[in-house]
Amino acid sequence: MTDTPRKLVIRKIGLLLSGKIEQPILDGDCIVALDGKISAVGYEADLDTDEATTLIDAQGTTLAPGLIDSHVHPVIGDYTPRQQQLSWIDSTLHGGVTTLISAGEVHMPGRPKDVVGLKAMAIASQRWYENFRPSGVKVHAGAPVIEHGMVEQDFKDLAEAGVKLLGEVGLGSVKDGKTARQMVDWARKYGIQSTIHTGGPSIPGSGLIDADMVLETGTDVVGHINGGHTALPDDQIICLCDGCKSALEIVHNGNERAALLTLNTTRELGKLDQLILGTDGPAGSGVQPLGILRMIAMLSSLGNIPAETAFCFGTGNTARQRKLDTGLIEPGFCADFVLMDQAQNSPGATILESIQQGNLPGVGMTIIDGVVTSHRSRNTPPAGRIPLLT
Ligand SMILES: [Zn+2]
Repeated sequence: MTDTPRKLVIRKIGLLLSGKIEQPILDGDCIVALDGKISAVGYEADLDTDEATTLIDAQGTTLAPGLIDSHVHPVIGDYTPRQQQLSWIDSTLHGGVTTLISAGEVHMPGRPKDVVGLKAMAIASQRWYENFRPSGVKVHAGAPVIEHGMVEQDFKDLAEAGVKLLGEVGLGSVKDGKTARQMVDWARKYGIQSTIHTGGPSIPGSGLIDADMVLETGTDVVGHINGGHTALPDDQIICLCDGCKSALEIVHNGNERAALLTLNTTRELGKLDQLILGTDGPAGSGVQPLGILRMIAMLSSLGNIPAETAFCFGTGNTARQRKLDTGLIEPGFCADFVLMDQAQNSPGATILESIQQGNLPGVGMTIIDGVVTSHRSRNTPPAGRIPLLT
């Protein structure tokens, strides 16, 4: 061991996407990170790039913050019992996603619903993903689903044990706004973030959550505002966009028409900074390794949003709404990146134009905490150019 810091230098970046909705494109062609945190961003000529321990020639490709999936249902390691599938997280990394946020480990066979049992599982889930990152991906998990019988002390216990999230309100036995509100308030008091299942039932056993209940419960995130999969009627979605100050989450496994309604409504209201993206996988409709990129291309093309802005929905917006130390290209934030290029043979003069025409970019590399975690994606269309690890 030496005291020399790990120094990552990425040079010859063609386009720098910041994740910041107020300034989605940054000037510069180079990033320096020390011990996994961004230390400088700008032009190579102006930065101290000497003695890099990892040197990457980006070959003119596009760098963005690693994508964040705000809504997943992990269970254990890189396995999901929902579709009997292995390595879904590794596949998702190949779609440019470096951070996953659990909306509840609800697919655990025999999931405990008694208070002691659900607390134990939440604490264990938080621990096993903190101790083990599948393929390097950061998984924020340990998100208990609230059930009748929970009291304030339970939320205090959970928070003290390291639990920072609630699973979707409505997936458990609490289906009324008054009880849900009380529990969400207790969670918030102890620093636990909350989300809610918005819309019709997802699978047998879940129920309808309408706009009135979402508003009454007041969670930090309006989970899948476009339904998971069944969306609320248009007037209720518009009412939520209008009435909520919390994050408005659009998911891949939802209603795409309702996603566009949400985008158009928030744009009219000047609330694009509240939009965040998730996949809601694994679920009945499977897992989506390219789900966040597909949402970005769909919203950009059908919703007429510049691609660089759509990237903010899946990076910086989520980081800010969720208070994460990733998702923004800024000194002090984690060196979590995805390097992409226009997909081979895709139309459009640039990567951004190609995405605005509905095409996916090709992922060439991912980096988490300053460490290269994948090279040319096995899942996206092939990128034209690929960064070189020199
Ligand atoms: Zn849901």
